[in-house]
Amino acid sequence: MSNPRRKNHWQDLDRDSAIAWQGRRLHRFLRDCVLPFSLHYQRVFATHGLTPDDIRTVADLAKLPLTSKEDLLPTPENPRRTLDFVLKPDPKVLARRPSVILRALLRGRERVRAELDREWRPIFMTSTTGRSTEPVPFLYTQHDIARLGLGSGRIVEIGGVRPDERMVNMFPFAPHLAFWYMYYSGIDRNVFALATGGGKVMGTEGNLRAVVKLKPQILVAMPTFLYHVLQQAVEQKLRLEGIRLLVLGGDKVPDGTRRKLGELCAQVGSPGVKIMATYGFTESKYAWTECPITPGTPPPGYHLYADQGIIEIINPETGETVPDGVGGEIVWTPLDQRGTVVLRYRTGDRCEHGITWEPCPCCGRRLPRLVGKISRVSDVHALRFQKVKGTIVDFNELERALDDLPGLGAWQIELRKAHDDPLDLDELNVHVTPAGSGNEAALDHAVRDLLHAHFELTPNKIVSHTAEEMRTLQKVGVALKEQKVVDNRSKVAEPTAKR
Ligand SMILES: [Zn+2]
Repeated sequence: MSNPRRKNHWQDLDRDSAIAWQGRRLHRFLRDCVLPFSLHYQRVFATHGLTPDDIRTVADLAKLPLTSKEDLLPTPENPRRTLDFVLKPDPKVLARRPSVILRALLRGRERVRAELDREWRPIFMTSTTGRSTEPVPFLYTQHDIARLGLGSGRIVEIGGVRPDERMVNMFPFAPHLAFWYMYYSGIDRNVFALATGGGKVMGTEGNLRAVVKLKPQILVAMPTFLYHVLQQAVEQKLRLEGIRLLVLGGDKVPDGTRRKLGELCAQVGSPGVKIMATYGFTESKYAWTECPITPGTPPPGYHLYADQGIIEIINPETGETVPDGVGGEIVWTPLDQRGTVVLRYRTGDRCEHGITWEPCPCCGRRLPRLVGKISRVSDVHALRFQKVKGTIVDFNELERALDDLPGLGAWQIELRKAHDDPLDLDELNVHVTPAGSGNEAALDHAVRDLLHAHFELTPNKIVSHTAEEMRTLQKVGVALKEQKVVDNRSKVAEPTAKR
């Protein structure tokens, strides 16, 4: 196994040199790891008349077809289809490799056999959340586990976290990437980190107690859950001093959310917090981060690491890659993985301004960055673009607009059928909690104006709630993820009409 902690010379390469270097790595990865051992990509390469030698540069990737979420879903003929994406090494093939023979001569065959077993045997998995489809498992070997720590360690590094600081990780405990990714960050960088398991394991109260006891400088959480925890701290008039950095993941982090979290931190005695948003997805086994910024500063974009994978931006309609600085769909290809491997994987996530290679305005690092808003279409397609009274509504935009609305604390959108009749019109209700000592009537007005002006929507009802009622509505501490958009249109009584 190569040592991932080597000095990263690629961090200082200019764009063209970095891309050329990635091309060489890509070729080796396909030739030595993927094609010999991936059933799925053996078929794909054969169908398209390709060999690993046809793909020697990043531009050559375009010869390969894209892999989509559907390619991973089980079919009646192949109910365990994801296993076709798992690299299954043939011990005889590995034993013939000169590097393996040399290692065996130097260190003994038993030891090399054990090393290869650690490198290639899947021992861990996370899965997609499966909101719209079956959860899809992604398998990891020890090689991949080491890279969880490598990647999350880089988040800690970019956040400037010192070994004498403490982190509280409130991501929900589940076989999902976010929890485990950040679990390994403290271990990799030798920083104290408590993983509470989030709301479902300890409730907002339990998480608050952990923060009061440990006095962490860094909080790691999903943005909405952290909002509720901090809101509850304000209600209980707790002092949580010394928090300096919030690391957010698992959901979008609109400017309004950053502002609200910053204000809540100030109210409990931690003014001037900085916020880092991270972006990752199950299929990459990886997540990337922005530099820490003060709420209100324009987000600087997510730092990508050239050594671990290639991010392409494509035109979602044509599938063609677009130039730097142009928005489109995010596509992922790893350069150093075992276990489950997907090539040119279409995330379904749209990035507003694509990739830039300009030095980061915050830290000056010369890593490529993903810039602009990212809209997650893939997991939540069934909910995000809905016909509401015959209008197509982009819920990504709607959520951002509500999060950014001054005076609005927490909110929930509820879709339902009028009179609970499946054949009747759709209804849209907005549940709101004013921020601070906000005025109910003014908030009602502001929400109506926003929905009408920007989305041509007229909500049926706007219902005001206390912070505690909103926590119940959003299922804080009950669901793994807070429910900000609820579709109750299918939960209606069976039609009573005679048949
Ligand atoms: Zn930076």
